[in-house]
Amino acid sequence: MTLFAAVELAPRDPILGLNEQFAADTHPAKVNLGVGVYFDDAGKLPLLACVKAAEAAMTEAAKPRGYLPIDGIAAYDKAVQGLVFGADSAVLKAGRVATVQAIGGTGGLKVGADFLKKLNPTAKVLISDPSWENHRALFTNAGFEVGTYAYYDADNRGVKFDALLADLDAAAAGTVVVLHACCHNPTGYDITPTQWDQVIATVKAKGLVPFLDMAYQGFGDGIAEDGAVVQQFLANGVDSFFVATSFSKSFSLYGERVGALSVVCADADEQKRVLSQLKIAIRTNYSNPPTHGAQMVATVLDTPALRAQWEEELAGMRVRIKQMRTLLVEKLAAAGVKTDFSFITRQRGMFSYSGLSKAQMERLRAEFGVYGVDSGRICVAALNSKNIDHVVAAIAAVV
Ligand code: PMP
Repeated sequence: MTLFAAVELAPRDPILGLNEQFAADTHPAKVNLGVGVYFDDAGKLPLLACVKAAEAAMTEAAKPRGYLPIDGIAAYDKAVQGLVFGADSAVLKAGRVATVQAIGGTGGLKVGADFLKKLNPTAKVLISDPSWENHRALFTNAGFEVGTYAYYDADNRGVKFDALLADLDAAAAGTVVVLHACCHNPTGYDITPTQWDQVIATVKAKGLVPFLDMAYQGFGDGIAEDGAVVQQFLANGVDSFFVATSFSKSFSLYGERVGALSVVCADADEQKRVLSQLKIAIRTNYSNPPTHGAQMVATVLDTPALRAQWEEELAGMRVRIKQMRTLLVEKLAAAGVKTDFSFITRQRGMFSYSGLSKAQMERLRAEFGVYGVDSGRICVAALNSKNIDHVVAAIAAVV
């Protein structure tokens, strides 16, 4: 009997599996709408000009690569805070926010999860039904029992808001509630500001712990618009909550693993103690974060000209996605498709729950080389002026 004889083969990541299948597909017009990555109209992964400029400046003044502090580059953490809470935010002035650099948004979630597990070992976690696949796995691996709150309303193409509220209302005090701050992955449906107010009221009344996952700030309606939910939590007097930030999409820096975790505390004294515990979580997982990606982001955010350029480039990505949504709906109608797909323009961010069935998604792949997820999720950010007609023809053929 060898040491690993009893090790089971873990299931493949479903989306990475799709990528392999896509790579092997010989269809001349194949389109990959499976991955959660933004591509430009030429079908290329963009390297933002602001990032290129920041990197060139860094190379010019190249520095030795010592260890970073456990919580990362101070200027980066500060820039993240400005972006998430607003530079003039009262909570920042009061020293109430503990922010640490993290290895992508995933790292921010994991540091928060480890901290929460130590704080309240018996707490449960609720994620939306459905949610980003890794939410369940990550919190489960951190030792939590993970349940769901109602979210997607397939019949009405939106959010089952009453059921969502009822599920939160039934949760035990101390339950950690993972909420998508904007651009819900995978459905594309967000709740309205009025509905957020109701969620916040329930969270307060029931003593729940909000954990906002902000992986797409700037991809929905704008940087400030997408971050408005954070302001709503603050305005409603929620004095402790979590925000995980990812710059993977908004800076097109997927492989650099740039993210953060911010924890809003009741006062500056709490902030010090919480920060010290977040550092333990980091120290015992990977000691300290890497230098390069966060330095590029900090340089962009802190250099007015680069910052302006970033906002413009981000707006470009956001506008292009919306154009693709509109075009998709128009072209489907023009192709004589009777199903009303106008809901696609009400969705936000990179994804659309298309409402297509597993069987239809399989036909899209097998007959047309159009790859989406079996759940019906397609990445609208991978559509472009060259591939959209093929996608429309394929969908028209299967509905
Ligand atoms: N949260 C959500 C909702 C996401 O969609 C993603 C990325 N797909 C992440 C977190 C993780 O982001 P990162 O790649 O920066 O770890």
